[in-house]
Parts: sequence; structure tokens; C-alpha cells
Amino acid sequence: LANRAFHPEDSHIQVRDRIVGGQELAIMAGPCSVEGEEEIISIAKRMKAAGANMLRGGAFKPRTSPYSFQGLEMEGIKMLVKAREETGLPIVTELMSKDYVDEFAEHVDVIQIGARNMQNYDLLKAVGRTQTPVLLKRGMSATYEEWLMAAEYIMSEGNSNVMLCERGIRTFETETRNCLDIQAVPVLNKLSHLPVIIDPSHAAGTREYIAATSRAAVAAGADGLIIETHACPEDAWSDGAQSLTPDEFDKLMEEVAKIAKAM
Ligand code: PEP
Ligand code: MN
Repeated sequence: LANRAFHPEDSHIQVRDRIVGGQELAIMAGPCSVEGEEEIISIAKRMKAAGANMLRGGAFKPRTSPYSFQGLEMEGIKMLVKAREETGLPIVTELMSKDYVDEFAEHVDVIQIGARNMQNYDLLKAVGRTQTPVLLKRGMSATYEEWLMAAEYIMSEGNSNVMLCERGIRTFETETRNCLDIQAVPVLNKLSHLPVIIDPSHAAGTREYIAATSRAAVAAGADGLIIETHACPEDAWSDGAQSLTPDEFDKLMEEVAKIAKAM
């Protein structure tokens, strides 16, 4: 179902009033974690002003340590809904357990499946039984074949609204958090008709590399970007080191718009 051979046209995925996979770049921006109602509403307004067309924010967080902040859970989802009401931006947020799939299908615009859950087949099948668009992140060590098979798990249950998200893979390198596989864009465009979104934030791990890799992603033909931002990254509850300030995000949006226009 994800295979280009049986579906030569690019897939266009409707997310509220927007189309992902068409002409317009999907720009999903916002904090790693939802931290409070005022915080999420104010960053949502700021991101919209900068040119983002969707709001990201995690309420269920897959943290490496069980002692780290785990997210505001359903309270965080309600805050995202408020931020959508205030700005009109569709909301993108991670689902970690199928226990919440009905709540997500009701309230969320794009269900993110995180790298750690790319092969959680029960979870994939559960989101496959909704019609909510899914952002399927690549597992840290997943081949394209494994990743596309994960998409098949969702699509074979009846949900064809799948976007693939490259977020960096594990290599021997330690200078960056992960290695952003830019080749994912042309390879997936050949193998599949699904939109490809690039997450430079979780690949870099450090904000200083985000601009260069975002520009590269757009030049390679990605359908969108998902970028972590925070009003005050040093105070962020998670992933502050890789979060852009709003001013840095403004600058990036200008650069990306120039590249998109030139393509
Ligand atoms: C995130 O988007 O904050 C996240 C945890 O991403 P990943 O699953 O790619 O690590
Ligand atoms: Mn994060």
C-alpha cells in the first residue's frame, strides 16, 4: 500500500485545512514537551507568526530515563487543543500507548509515532484503525524496508494517511545525537508515494546544526520539517539543547522559503 509501484502519484494528506505532500511545505514547530497552557499558547502564536503551519508538542514523552519528566499526558493534550483554538494551527503529538488511541483520534490532528515505537505493531495497528493522519518516525536503527513495513501495518488496517519522518539514525559518531539520513528523501520518494518530513532536531541534538540540515532537507525535496523550538531553550523541560529560539526560527524560515522558492 505504501509502494510507489502500485500508486504512482504522490499522496496528499489532508490535515484539517492543509495538504501535506503537495506544493506547500509542512512546517511543524513547537517545544519538545508541552509545559503549561500559557507556554504552549504563546509559543504557538509565535510560531504561527514566524511561518509555521502546524504546532508540535509532546504530552506523552518517551524519555531515556524513567526519572526524567514523562509529560503532562492528557492535561497536555487539552493544552494543545487550547493552543489550536487560539491559533488555528493543527496539533502534532506523540501517542505511546494504544490505551489513549480514542482520545487522540478525537482531539489530535496528527498522531506521532516515535522512533522507539516504530515497530510496536500493536500500536501501529491501533492507529491504523483510525483515520487520523500519522507521522511515523524512523526507528533509530531501522532500514527503509522495515520502516515502510511499519507504514504497511498502519495502512493495512485502513488508514492511508501516513507521513514518514526521518529523525536521524544511530551510527558510531558521538559528536551529533544521531546521523540525519538526507538520502531518505530521494530513496523514499522512489520507493513510496508517502510524504517525507525531516526532523533535524533529534538528529542534531544541538541547535547549531539545525539550520544547515533544514536547508539541505528542503533542497533534497522533503515535504516538510518538524523542528523543536522554545521561548527560552535553557529552561526547557526536555531537549533544550536542540531547541531553536523564536528568533533563530524566524531566520531559518526566511532561508527555507528562499530555497523552496528556487526549487
Ligand atoms: C520527539 O519528537 O520529541 C521525540 C521523542 O522524537 P523521536 O521519537 O524521534 O526520538
Ligand atoms: Mn524531543
